[in-house]
Amino acid sequence: MNIILFGPPGAGKGTQADNLVKKFSLYKFSTGDLLRDEAKRDSSLGKKIRTIISRGEFVPDEIINTFIDKILLNKEYHNRLIFDGYPRNLAQAEFLNDLVIKYNQKISCVLCLDVNKEILLKRILGRQICTNCGVIFNQYFKPPTTKNHSCNPSYLKKRSDDNEDIIIDRYNTYLNKTLPILNFYEKLNLLYKINGDSEINQIYKEIEGIITSLEA
Ligand code: AMP
Repeated sequence: MNIILFGPPGAGKGTQADNLVKKFSLYKFSTGDLLRDEAKRDSSLGKKIRTIISRGEFVPDEIINTFIDKILLNKEYHNRLIFDGYPRNLAQAEFLNDLVIKYNQKISCVLCLDVNKEILLKRILGRQICTNCGVIFNQYFKPPTTKNHSCNPSYLKKRSDDNEDIIIDRYNTYLNKTLPILNFYEKLNLLYKINGDSEINQIYKEIEGIITSLEA
């Protein structure tokens, strides 16, 4: 099955995807992670992406879609992907739909995490990522301790685009450009809405239940 995790920045898509990957033997494909890696390169593409991300804008569809095509073409990931951060506008959703048909795959469900704006801000402003092991923490909700994290605390970093002005811009872009995709998936009967304000474990249980019922 291919799963789309949908929701505003800070909704907890990455955390949920990490749990689902382990439980259902899937692969997470996060366009944000991929673009941040690309942005570290000293190429002209790397520089372009760096500038766009630091402004909280969208990277052009043709750049993103080239990556998506390669991922769907890869036999190892065939029908085993969790999309985190893609699609982000209607053109990307339509492109993905055409691609899954082209590569004889399917989208099993679109899981939309609905989250209150105040909670979102805390989730994003408190977010810390360990650059060594990749685990995501939050200084308000899930602080790193010696019990849950064995790497040196110096590896804990904030994302450069996690500041308040950029977050508000990214949230507005989500409302204007990304949220309208939900109609598209609702018509395809693929949409599941989840209360993303709850605790991480509770959200996970709800998602797990949906996926397990789809597998049955
Ligand atoms: P994320 O980690 O998903 O919040 O993405 C971080 C940044 O990467 C976004 O603010 C965009 O600049 C860029 N990005 C990620 N996914 C996409 C996408 N599907 N389309 C365009 N830009 C994207």
